[in-house]
Amino acid sequence: RAKKDGRNAYRFFTSEMQAQSARALMLENALRRALERRQLSLHYQPQFSLDPDGEARIVGAEALLRWQHPELGWVSPAEFIPVAEASGLILPIGEWVLREAVSQLRRWDDAGLPGLSMAVNLSAVQFRHADLPQLVERVLSEIGVPAERLELELTEGAAMDDPAVAITVMNELHARGVLLSIDDFGTGYSSLSYLKKFRVGKLKIDQSFVRDLTDDAEDRAIVDAVIRMAAALGLQTLAEGVETEGQLAFLRRHGCQAVQGYLFSRPLPAEAFAEFVLARTAPISAY
Ligand code: C2E
Ligand code: MG
Ligand code: MG
Ligand code: MG
Repeated sequence: RAKKDGRNAYRFFTSEMQAQSARALMLENALRRALERRQLSLHYQPQFSLDPDGEARIVGAEALLRWQHPELGWVSPAEFIPVAEASGLILPIGEWVLREAVSQLRRWDDAGLPGLSMAVNLSAVQFRHADLPQLVERVLSEIGVPAERLELELTEGAAMDDPAVAITVMNELHARGVLLSIDDFGTGYSSLSYLKKFRVGKLKIDQSFVRDLTDDAEDRAIVDAVIRMAAALGLQTLAEGVETEGQLAFLRRHGCQAVQGYLFSRPLPAEAFAEFVLARTAPISAY
């Protein structure tokens, strides 16, 4: 029908597109007030290191942004992050995320949690913003957390957007002691040569390769190759989206160094995260 009646088809698609951009505009307006109205929060997903045969040990957290709007309910970051990026709102929001995540790490330290690392997602827009290395340094020193405890996650697209800028920014962050990781590794279109040129310290293997690991030989080959390549280049590896024991066993056997995923825990509010960590690390009381 669409082929026979081109004009209607055109109108159909434009009205769908109009509805989408109306929603984006509505979200943008709501997001503009979200920070001051305290609708944003962070959840934290535990990250575990894997020994070839030992236990998985909790070593860090990834901060994930959450937005709860009084009428819209929980809006997914997959929907509102692009709106925040397109409108420039990601700059104040991203700064809030960085401050909040680093402050939370400090509060956990003060509460006696073992020294974890904190991974914060960065948007390409933040990465390109001239002030980023200074902002990161300022936040860390104001809150009193060493740079070595902070990890910044970038996607391949963000890193490759403008390689010359990327090299400078990465060098500046690296010089300050911050670890850079490539998020969703393997899903972008970038050249692998950046791994050599850029100050990347860790690859986060995208969950799309992990999902079917136990039945898909191609995914197994890809994940195995990424782990080997990373090891040869001296990069750390973390697999995302680990949901089953089978996936975990494969990753451990093939030398993946760290994992996160629903098998261990969903992202948790700060207090629940602390309880989760303490329950797993509390020494058996001696009596
Ligand atoms: P990401 O950084 O790759 O984060 C991983 C996503 O996978 C998170 O979704 C997490 O909740 C989800 N996840 C974790 N374990 C599992 C699992 O075992 N199975 C499945 N199916 N999913 C799992 P979330 O929180 O909805 O975030 C989506 C994306 O939004 C993030 O992907 C990141 O790109 C972006 N994002 C989230 N927070 C921020 C932020 O503060 N700043 C920026 N710039 N982007 C953010
Ligand atoms: Mg991430
Ligand atoms: Mg990811
Ligand atoms: Mg992602």
